[in-house]
Parts: sequence; structure tokens; C-alpha cells
Amino acid sequence: MNQTKQCTKCNEVKRVSEFNKDHRNKGSLRSYCRSCQANYNRQYTMSNIGKAHKALSKAKYNRKLAEKKYGISIKDTLKIYDIAFIQAERECIYCEQDVPRGQMTIDHVLTFAQGGTNEFSNLLPACNTCNKRKGSKPVLEFLKESCDEHVTKQVVFRLALRQRINYEEMLLKLQAPEQLQEIVSQ
Ligand SMILES: [Zn+2]
Ligand SMILES: [Zn+2]
Repeated sequence: MNQTKQCTKCNEVKRVSEFNKDHRNKGSLRSYCRSCQANYNRQYTMSNIGKAHKALSKAKYNRKLAEKKYGISIKDTLKIYDIAFIQAERECIYCEQDVPRGQMTIDHVLTFAQGGTNEFSNLLPACNTCNKRKGSKPVLEFLKESCDEHVTKQVVFRLALRQRINYEEMLLKLQAPEQLQEIVSQ
């Protein structure tokens, strides 16, 4: 019985117990040894595409949680390249500070409870601080207390572009989001 296997990454011959099972291929082992696999996973998580994948599954997971919580169905057309596009932006939309590479977060402008969707048109790039501070506050309220008029206009303008409506229509939409009143007030 062959009790050893050569790792295709580090080329070392190791005991088979040092290889994980390959779940995509029943009965066989992964070609990378455990430590090479762990290294690879770490590098992938740190990479831009790895970060985008993580942010995408988080957004989809949170959407599912909200659907369960509110008993509604939330529109979700989010794709990996939408997330990657937002993460590649250099400036926080709210504070206009440069955000270090890989640290941009995804802000849902209207939260799910406010009738927001998990679609590109509802997402903006924000730094972690602004995103946390905004929390579940209505976006116009947050803009009023934390940002100047120029930023407010920028935000409304960008959202209007993404939703293919005009500035005034977008402003109205933000002023009167379809709140899930009875749920939010519970
Ligand atoms: Zn190895
Ligand atoms: Zn910010």
C-alpha cells in the first residue's frame, strides 16, 4: 500500500495523513499537502479576488438572513465583478478619504429593512468607519449629520445614475424609502 505521496507544490514526499481528502474527487487526496494548501488558502483570502468572493458571500448571506427575519423576498443580482468594482474604488463616498487597498467596504445605501436590495444600484464604496457609523440610519439623515452638501449631491447623483432615474426622482426615493414599517417598529 502506498502510504506516501508527493506534494505537487513543495515537491516533498509526505505521509498520506498530511494530505486532505479531495471532496471534488471521491476517494482521492488533494495534490497539495496540508501546509501548502493552508498557505495557498491564506494567499487567496488576501488576494483581491479572494476578498471580493468573501464580500459577495457575506452580502448574499446577510440577504438570506434578512429575508428570513422579515419574511420577504429581496432582489439580488449581485455578481463577483460588481463587488470587485466597488472594492477597487480608492475613495470612501462619504468622507472622501483614501482607503488603503483591500480595505474598502460595501455599503448598502438603503438597508434591507428600508426596502433596499442586494443589487449594484444600491451599493456604494465606504470606509469601514463611515459604514459602521451609518449603520441602519436612513442615508439622508446620515449625510446630513456627517457630510457636507457637496458629498450629499455626489451620493444622490451616483445612485441616480446607477438606477437610471433622474436626480430629483432619486432624492424622493431616498426621502421616502419603502420602509417595512410594521417590521422595523417591532
Ligand atoms: Zn507541500
Ligand atoms: Zn469614510
